[in-house]
Amino acid sequence: MSDTSSFDFNESGKNGKHTSKYQNAEPDDKNKNWLEGVFRRYYFYHYSQIELGELINEHEFGFRLFDGKIRRHLAFNDKKELYAYIIKFSPSDIFYSSSRYQNPKAEIDQKGWIGSDLIFDIDGKDLHLECAQSHNLVLCRDCSFISKGIIPKCAGCNSTRLQIIDMPCSRCIKSLTGEVKKLTEILKDDFGIVSESIFIYFSGNNGYHIHVVDKNFYGISAQKRSAFAQYLMGKGYLIENLGIRKNTDGVLTPMHNKVQYNQGWRRRIFDSMHLPIQNHRIDDKFVKKYVRMLDAKNNNTNDIISTNIFDLSAKIDPNVTMDIHRIFRLAGSINSKSGLIKAFCKDLDSFNPFVDACFVGGDSNVKIDSKLNIKISLKGKQFSLKPGANTIPEYVAAYVVCKGIGDIQ
Ligand SMILES: [Zn+2]
Ligand SMILES: [Zn+2]
Repeated sequence: MSDTSSFDFNESGKNGKHTSKYQNAEPDDKNKNWLEGVFRRYYFYHYSQIELGELINEHEFGFRLFDGKIRRHLAFNDKKELYAYIIKFSPSDIFYSSSRYQNPKAEIDQKGWIGSDLIFDIDGKDLHLECAQSHNLVLCRDCSFISKGIIPKCAGCNSTRLQIIDMPCSRCIKSLTGEVKKLTEILKDDFGIVSESIFIYFSGNNGYHIHVVDKNFYGISAQKRSAFAQYLMGKGYLIENLGIRKNTDGVLTPMHNKVQYNQGWRRRIFDSMHLPIQNHRIDDKFVKKYVRMLDAKNNNTNDIISTNIFDLSAKIDPNVTMDIHRIFRLAGSINSKSGLIKAFCKDLDSFNPFVDACFVGGDSNVKIDSKLNIKISLKGKQFSLKPGANTIPEYVAAYVVCKGIGDIQ
């Protein structure tokens, strides 16, 4: 059994393989060497931020090094061995299997799968936010020109080989946390998962990871995890699931043969239409109200279902949830797309990624060459960069260099 998506280190798995910026770098590449040092210093002083469970020796680890090389199928006997490896190699990214294995070092079909936490990935680019269209950047792979806003062609050379650089704003973060809340509510209401079993992490760049640690779901198959994801996304929802069907004359009628409990998707959909189900039953009176509402909105049931489900469902990446052999970003490690860390959110509402996940790089000033005019907010302070030389704290420089929008001098 081999799933190619397991080898894709990109969390969403949709934008192709995330490759290192430094893959073809010269050995004296200043950005690479500087970042490698800054990352190593973070791991040396903050190794306790790395979150590991009890049975670390039963998990697979994977590393992306700054030269672009990927090492996976690694295992460590204990935390000290892992820390020594991290400090020695100073990887750009660290991944860890949510699964436990008998032989984590073996090839996937030989590993001896024991079980896995349920994991969910919510990625900013799947939300297609309006603000992201204006504040994200586009890097041209041909001439390296960086444009502001999402454009179809490079403004410098007309090339269409463009790469989006996410520059999430506070509105993006608010939309993402809204998705996290929808997901956790469904997990609690429809699956009886308790809050204490749900662990929410900022991904380190433009998303959130949700880990469910619950023994009732630990051993479920990839197929069942896929069904779980489809359910959370509201896929395949039919009018009959609402407790209403069309009779042979095309008239909507209640399904009398069963009690319609006011729960799950049915409750969410009817509540969002302001049609609460009385006495947990769907009867003729209820269907009449429903039909009146359809007429008033000049809508049909399929539109109603799809619009409501779109608004109410959690925008998760189903490939992540179903892939039991995926190696997932390790909590407390640095995301090289931003220089921020994957951080646990104790309180989602008060968590500010631009403050609470900013640990890489010190306060001392360094010089960078910015490729554009840009405002960056980190640790509660605003920094306005102008094209060319800028003197900024090291932690801001780490963000700028990771984003590829400036070079260390
Ligand atoms: Zn170009
Ligand atoms: Zn935004």
